[in-house]
Amino acid sequence: MNYLEAFSPNYAIARERFRAKSLACGYDCTAYPIDQVSPTGEELTIDVAISVTSNPKRTIVISSGLHGVEGFLGSAIQLALLEQQQILASRSPDTRVVLIHALNPYGFAWRRRWNEDNVDLNCNFLLPEEEFTDSPKNYSKFNAFLNPTSPPSKFEPYILHAIWLILKHSMTSLRNTLPVGQYDFPKGLFFGGNRPSKTQEILAANLPQWIGKASEVLHIDFHTGLGKWGTYKLLLGLTQPTSSQRLAERFGADVVEISSTEGVSYQIRGGLGTWCQNLLPECRYNILTAEFGTYLAIKVLQALRAENRAHHWGNSHQNYEWTKHQLVECFTPASHKWRAQSLVQGIEICKQALSG
Ligand SMILES: [Zn+2]
Repeated sequence: MNYLEAFSPNYAIARERFRAKSLACGYDCTAYPIDQVSPTGEELTIDVAISVTSNPKRTIVISSGLHGVEGFLGSAIQLALLEQQQILASRSPDTRVVLIHALNPYGFAWRRRWNEDNVDLNCNFLLPEEEFTDSPKNYSKFNAFLNPTSPPSKFEPYILHAIWLILKHSMTSLRNTLPVGQYDFPKGLFFGGNRPSKTQEILAANLPQWIGKASEVLHIDFHTGLGKWGTYKLLLGLTQPTSSQRLAERFGADVVEISSTEGVSYQIRGGLGTWCQNLLPECRYNILTAEFGTYLAIKVLQALRAENRAHHWGNSHQNYEWTKHQLVECFTPASHKWRAQSLVQGIEICKQALSG
């Protein structure tokens, strides 16, 4: 397979290819509607393909698109795995494979990192006892800069303003404030929502049955836009320190990183991993967030900010399409080298997950 061909130009084509290929491979396929439509009026769905493996002892989950527009790479990796069936077939007979395509189909289809309610889904998975309230203490200080209530402009001095903020508040303060989730600014960046999302409801109702009776789950959730260009890290939640040694041995100590304020990762509230572990306490559930680096964080933030302005304050504005194009480039660079390299690395991660 030509690796570049695995990348689809949009969500609708990505979904069609995923469905057709997983059916051709004999997988059980189900589409879960989220009651939203694409820009061209098609129903949006989370598509799940499950290998026919009765009574699995181990389940490997490979998911894409929790952050919508980040789904292009994860979708391409899933398609490449289905194209190269020998990789998926190399697992032991008691291992089930679950492929989840587009956990945030709205964001994928509309080219947003957020869902239909402007929610960052990786901040929406609060545990049952947690409340959808509060924000990092500095978020309100950054709100005016992050979320202007006007259409985007190509000519404002964004970089100067951002550098001034970094000098004033430090990079560490920004990192610990921005992507960690806020629950007070519904139109702002990194909003965690005010209730469980549709995606969360679908997972709550179905994840146990997708996993089967497996006592061990290894879940790889693919993301882009964080880290050094063309490289990746596998981020492990703070709740799994006992697993970190084992996972480092399997995937490489240089790429497995426990989420902290150091390295490329950051600590979040409402992350998918802890929520899955809480939902399935009877099994050993390890989730690795595979983060592939693209551009510098300051450029990625610029693209997120511009697209969010266009979405809320300028969806008929002349710059609307420009912001979408920029956002896709920040999370799925057009560079052939980046795409081929990231796809090869992503397949390798899946091979390592399937082995053993
Ligand atoms: Zn992400």
